[in-house]
Amino acid sequence: NRAAGARFGAVEASATFAVFDRVARLRAEGVDVLDLGGGEPDFGTPTHVVDEAVDALRGGFTHYTPSRGVPALLDAVSDKLAKDNGIVVDPATDIVITPSAKHALFAALTTLLDPGDEVLIPTPSWVSYPAMARLIGARPVQLALDPEDGFRITRELLEQHVTSRTKALLVNSPNNPTGRIMTRDEARAIGRFADEHDVLMIADEIYEKIVYDGHDHLSLASLPCCADRTLTVNGFSKGYAMTGWRLGWAAGPTDLMEQLLKVQQHTVGCAGSFVQRGGVAALMGPQEPVERMAARYAARRDVLVRGLNALPGVVCAPPEGAFYAFADIRGTAGFTDSAAFADRLLQETGVALMPGSAFGPGGEGFVRLSFATSSRVLEESLERMGRALTGW
Ligand code: PLP
Repeated sequence: NRAAGARFGAVEASATFAVFDRVARLRAEGVDVLDLGGGEPDFGTPTHVVDEAVDALRGGFTHYTPSRGVPALLDAVSDKLAKDNGIVVDPATDIVITPSAKHALFAALTTLLDPGDEVLIPTPSWVSYPAMARLIGARPVQLALDPEDGFRITRELLEQHVTSRTKALLVNSPNNPTGRIMTRDEARAIGRFADEHDVLMIADEIYEKIVYDGHDHLSLASLPCCADRTLTVNGFSKGYAMTGWRLGWAAGPTDLMEQLLKVQQHTVGCAGSFVQRGGVAALMGPQEPVERMAARYAARRDVLVRGLNALPGVVCAPPEGAFYAFADIRGTAGFTDSAAFADRLLQETGVALMPGSAFGPGGEGFVRLSFATSSRVLEESLERMGRALTGW
């Protein structure tokens, strides 16, 4: 029997990679596509980071490292967590450097969940969470957040979905795709729920460096109620424009991290050696490039949100963090569903975006537009969308 495991029946291929592939195909056919579908900074990696990795390569730093990570990077992450996030961990035991935040999330879910266990995932959410849970035989329980309530996570909603099999809760703030940042009150409510039901948490903080209008990113693990039940996941892809480097980390209570280290040891072994040296330079070096990129995203956000709200039938609240606008298209002419909207728009105008339905329950009626692209592309996209929507 050469069929893949039965659990694959429920695992969908990544919707974001599907748009990525479709854009590449259309471009190869000569279509002038404006891609607002992807989630990847268009900026270069800061030069001092590249230089450090190149030096490491030239200096022969090209072999396995300790599975947990190189000591200098573990120290840098530990210092960063204390300084930026109010999370106190021991670099010798409580951190694992992973090849990407994605792998850190997979390792965290593998560590916490047995087959049949349930993980609560507030949606709309990043497309890979439910798929990862299914890959390890766990059950993703998707909780549709209310757009009319600003996609807030509430105690009531969590209580409605908790069962005796609930083992973990996954929280992503700043959020992809909604752009929301969890408030302190919301975090406290989540913490009290987790404490009362003895639920562990995974906090995905990959967009923490990209926040707007003075909004503060808050780490769940910095709250006393959550510190000993939360695995914090983060990485270099978004804030430092290092998507291709594949570098991230997980940090949390010693006993859980001891098990997570086994996942790392038996799957990837360690993150790339010279890549980790680049990571040290990113965390220890000047942070101005990160701030400059965040300021550029803020300016583009303003262009995009203003333009979207001027389109007939479109309403878009300004995102508080990350680099996506999540626009309500329910009022557009002829609206049926977000996937049909995205298809028609791509065909008629060459503007690629993500249908909200790809992000799970609660996402229908919306589309996600990435502004990790130039203002010129954003303005041209808005113009093309304006022409199309006016004619629909
Ligand atoms: N978490 C969220 C919410 C994301 O949007 C992404 C990337 O799109 C990741 C994690 C993965 O980041 P990495 O490139 O480090 O795997």
